[in-house]
Amino acid sequence: MKNIAMAGAGLSCAVIARKLAEKGHKITIFESRNHIGGNCHTERDDKTGVMIHVYGPHIFHTDNKEVWDFVNQYMEFKPYVNRVKSTTKGQVFSLPVNLHTINQFFNKTLSPNEARAFIEQQADMSITDPQSFEEQAMRFVGKDLYEAFFKGYTQKQWGIDPKNLPASILKRLPVRFNYDDNYFAHPYQGMPKDGYTKMIENILDHQNIEIRLNTPFVREQAVEFDHVFYSGTIDGYFNYEYGRLPYRTLDFKKKYAKGDFQGCAVMNYGDVSVPYTRISEHKYFSTWESFEDTVYFEEYSRSCEQEDTPYYPINLVGGNELIEKYRYKAAQEKNVTFVGRLGTYRYLDMDVTIAEALKVVGEF
Ligand SMILES: Cc1cc2nc3c(=O)[nH]c(=O)nc-3n(C[C@H](O)[C@H](O)[C@H](O)COP(=O)(O)OP(=O)(O)OC[C@H]3O[C@@H](n4cnc5c(N)ncnc54)[C@H](O)[C@@H]3O)c2cc1C
Repeated sequence: MKNIAMAGAGLSCAVIARKLAEKGHKITIFESRNHIGGNCHTERDDKTGVMIHVYGPHIFHTDNKEVWDFVNQYMEFKPYVNRVKSTTKGQVFSLPVNLHTINQFFNKTLSPNEARAFIEQQADMSITDPQSFEEQAMRFVGKDLYEAFFKGYTQKQWGIDPKNLPASILKRLPVRFNYDDNYFAHPYQGMPKDGYTKMIENILDHQNIEIRLNTPFVREQAVEFDHVFYSGTIDGYFNYEYGRLPYRTLDFKKKYAKGDFQGCAVMNYGDVSVPYTRISEHKYFSTWESFEDTVYFEEYSRSCEQEDTPYYPINLVGGNELIEKYRYKAAQEKNVTFVGRLGTYRYLDMDVTIAEALKVVGEF
């Protein structure tokens, strides 16, 4: 039996804590915030009763059966398909860019094969080895679709010219030559019936797990434990010795409306003239419930300052030397494992977070 500390009560540490508690280890979880759940945290809105995704919309999707079985053990999942729209240049389009989007945007009635040939004509074939996000998009979809659906949105999201973002952000062909508007191509997709926080509460419900809310964990405490799993910021752990890693943060402007506001869960805004990236109307995330009125959030992205919540690590063309220095230092810490999106400084979807946490437990 080992005495183990977890820094953070998000998905990463919850999964690791549960698995190790079941093996008989004694787990103490430190969480700086006043709630568990990390950035997946959900709570009911006081005025409308809608289940709010407090740190931004979270849709569970995976192609990993083990992960899907794992989450279903702790919460019933309701069927949910993410269908996103985009308001761009005064019109509403379907995302991800699909045959409907192409036909509407170019005012055509193309078949899948015709559309494929048409988009190939649009694409900039002179780019043979795309390095940046912009080159990748120009190579795949050409100037018009790039400027309407990718350029402005990406500029607002990252605060950086897409010329300076790596091509890897846009990995696959971001276009479908059929009418499939299911945002995610994974076989398993759904929403936890009572929210993510309740699911994580169920994962943490074990006699060997003690949770201390409002209690940050600091490096000096590591000596008190046999092992530490740390899901806070890797630079924060080392007291920002080499400087701060760059992050984007989000501001959510909460608004109310009578009845319905936008008729869908997520509406992107592709134009740079609109300051927010998207609006999420959260009652559409729980379609099996009904509400008289509605609450929605305008989402603004900006550079993360000292007091802000870090959301997205920033990856630039050419990489980031600072993170390599911190990773080297982290590898020297004898009894500490850095996990999760902040501990490893990577954007991780929930399913990847869980898969990695299960792997970490196996290795431990
Ligand atoms: C806007 C947004 C939208 C997203 N949407 C999706 C989606 O639709 N689908 C999807 O699959 N994934 C989505 N994700 C990813 C998802 O949020 C992550 O996969 C998940 O939160 C990772 O869990 P984690 O435990 O690694 O980190 P976190 O959730 O960040 O948890 C870390 C916890 O550690 C705490 N902590 C930090 N430092 C300390 C310390 N020193 N001491 C004590 N506690 C500490 C923090 O307060 C936090 O509670 C989204 C992420 C963002 C930012």
